[in-house]
Amino acid sequence: MSTTAEQGSELRTERTTAKRHPERSTHEFVTITRILDEGIYCHIGFSIDTQPFVVPTAYGREGRALYIHGSAASRALRSLSEGLPLCLTVTLFDGLVLARSAFRQSINYRSVMILGVAHVVADDDKARALRVITEHVVPGRWADVRPPSSQELEATTVLKLDIKEASAKIRSGPPNDDEEDHTLPCWTGELPFTLEVQSPVRDARLAAGVRPPAYLTQYRRPSRDGAASDEV
Ligand SMILES: Cc1cc2nc3c(=O)[nH]c(=O)nc-3n(C[C@H](O)[C@H](O)[C@H](O)COP(=O)(O)OP(=O)(O)OC[C@H]3O[C@@H](n4cnc5c(N)ncnc54)[C@H](O)[C@@H]3O)c2cc1C
Repeated sequence: MSTTAEQGSELRTERTTAKRHPERSTHEFVTITRILDEGIYCHIGFSIDTQPFVVPTAYGREGRALYIHGSAASRALRSLSEGLPLCLTVTLFDGLVLARSAFRQSINYRSVMILGVAHVVADDDKARALRVITEHVVPGRWADVRPPSSQELEATTVLKLDIKEASAKIRSGPPNDDEEDHTLPCWTGELPFTLEVQSPVRDARLAAGVRPPAYLTQYRRPSRDGAASDEV
């Protein structure tokens, strides 16, 4: 039986091997999926006529694939549909790292970078892929909402990106101060951050008597300590 490290080894290529702080990098699939499952949105980077664009967008993961969607008229989705190479990143911000020197100030984070070419999801699979995205963002939501109409499906492009070439990078813990700075009197340590969910705010035209569902009142992202999501 292969180990989780071995399961991720095929995600490592020359391009996804970290040169800077390689000790913070991993290609373990389970680590990558934990970050992807906790994240809500990603940034997709691509280049058109030598001009780079980085576009934030929602996504959903299913096994070894990510789905992204948008208007069929979107420049980004049209270009990516034609096979433009892309770089997709997901970043979880865990806190500030206050060092004794400005040079050593840092950020604690967990991030994933995926390289590849996305493929257009066929019409007969679009609704299912949109369900993956909807459920990734708000688990339980798909069963409550009106499904997309044929016109809405037609106006939407859905792309699938296989997780074939990917890396995660993680920084955690205290600052790495220079030894000679340890006697400096400035406060030093970490300022941890978490994503805080507020109470649901009802829409002004919400039908009478409709209560917020438990999946909203108890909304939380899968945590870093949660069950490993290594399904493929
Ligand atoms: C919130 C946040 C803040 C950061 N702030 C800084 C900063 O201020 N200064 C700084 O130098 N760096 C910062 N980093 C780290 C930064 O993302 C890069 O890892 C680093 O700058 C090295 O870049 P490089 O192009 O030399 O990477 P290389 O080591 O050349 O990258 C090679 C490969 O390693 C992998 N890789 C590199 N970085 C990441 C990553 N972040 N996540 C997943 N895979 C990765 C990719 O597969 C990439 O193709 C920050 C990261 C995050 C998430």
